[in-house]
Amino acid sequence: MSAFIELRGITKRYGDAVAVDGVDLDLVKGEVFSLLGPSGCGKTTLLRILAGFIMPDAGTVRVDGVDLTRVPANQRPINTVFQNYALFPHLSVRQNIAFGRKIAGVPAAQIRREVDRMLDLIQMAGHADKRPHQISGGQKQRVAIARALINEPRLLLLDEPLAALDLKLRQHMLLELERIHRDVGTTFLYVTHDQGEAMGLSDRLAVMNGGRVEQIGAPAEVYEAPATRFVADFIGDTNILDGHAGSRPRPDYLSVELGSLGRVLAWCDRPVAAGKTLHLCLRPEKIRLERPNGGVDDDWNRVGGTITEYNYFGSHTRFVVRAGALDLSVVQPHRRCFLDEKPFAPGDPVMLSWHPDDGYVIPGNHGVPAEAVLQ
Ligand code: ADP
Ligand code: MG
Repeated sequence: MSAFIELRGITKRYGDAVAVDGVDLDLVKGEVFSLLGPSGCGKTTLLRILAGFIMPDAGTVRVDGVDLTRVPANQRPINTVFQNYALFPHLSVRQNIAFGRKIAGVPAAQIRREVDRMLDLIQMAGHADKRPHQISGGQKQRVAIARALINEPRLLLLDEPLAALDLKLRQHMLLELERIHRDVGTTFLYVTHDQGEAMGLSDRLAVMNGGRVEQIGAPAEVYEAPATRFVADFIGDTNILDGHAGSRPRPDYLSVELGSLGRVLAWCDRPVAAGKTLHLCLRPEKIRLERPNGGVDDDWNRVGGTITEYNYFGSHTRFVVRAGALDLSVVQPHRRCFLDEKPFAPGDPVMLSWHPDDGYVIPGNHGVPAEAVLQ
C-alpha cells in the first residue's frame, strides 16, 4: 500500500548549491506533519515542489498513488497558506474567502453557504464584512486558512504561518490550528523553524539540515531518541558529551567512557564496537541535582560537580554545573513553592545523578544516522 503523499528522491539545485538533496517523505492521510529545521535548510523549497510552484531536478511527487511531478500547481488538490497572509486589501473578509470559488465559477448561493461554514470554522462570523486592515494579525491568518480550506484541498501546506505573530498570539493560533485540523481532518504539512510549534502541533515531523532529512518520527521520538548529533542539538536543550564505547555490563546497556567524567552506563540496544567514538545525549531535566551526601538509587549514574551559575525561570531553575572538565546544563522543576526551598548557590558542591535509560547514545560521526554507524 502506498502512502497518501509520497516524495521520492526529491532534489533541487540552484547553481552549485543543493537546496533539497534526495529527500524521501511519506505522509499519512489526515496527519499533521511538520518540516522542521533552521533557516535555509530547504523547507520552503520542498513545500513549493509539493505545491507545484517549483519543478524538482530529480525525484517524484505522488498524491494518493497519482504521479503529479509534472502537473501544474493549479491542477493539484493542494492549497498553501503563507506567512504574509496575502489577503486582498480592498475585499472584505467574506469576499477574500469566496475569491477562489468565484473564479472557479461556483454558483453564488453555494459560495455563500460555503463561506458561512468557513466563517464558523474560523470563528469569525461577526467580522465577515470587515476589510483586512480592520482585523488583527491572528484574524488575518485565520482568513488565509479559510480561503485555502474552502477549496477542500486534500493537502494543506502551511509555510511558517505564525512567524509574523507575537508569542501569545502564536500560542493561541496553534490551538486554533489544532481545532481546525480536528474539524476538517485534512492532511496538514506544516513548515517551521520553531521546534516548539512543530512538537506541539505535529503527529510526526521531519528534522531537516542542509537539504536533507536527518530524522522522521513522532515528537517524542526525535526528542528522546535523536538519530544524529544535529537533531539532538536542534530539538530542545541538551548536554552532548563526547566519549567512546566500553564494555557491555548487561544486555542492552553500554558502558560509556566520558574522559574526565569517568565511566557511566547508558541504554543502547544496538551493536556498538568497543572503542567507537560516540556522544552521550543527556537532557538537562533528566539530571537530578542533590547535595554530595544525598541518597542516590543504586543503579543510577552519579557524578560530582560544583554549581557555577543558575537562572531562576519561575517554573524551573537552570543550573550550570562544572563536572570534571565539562559544563553541564541541569534543569530542576519547582514542584513546591521555590521560596520555601533552600536554593543551591554558585560554589556549592553537588551530586548529579541520572538513570541509565536517560542517557541516549548517538554516533560520533556527524550527520550520519545511528543505524549506519554503530555497527
Ligand atoms: P528554508 O525555507 O528552510 O529557510 P529555503 O528552501 O528557502 O530554506 O532555501 C534553501 C536553500 O536554497 C537556501 O540556501 C536558499 O538560499 C536557496 N534558495 C532558495 N530559493 C532560491 C532561489 N530561487 N535561487 C537561489 N537559491 C535559492
Ligand atoms: Mg522558508
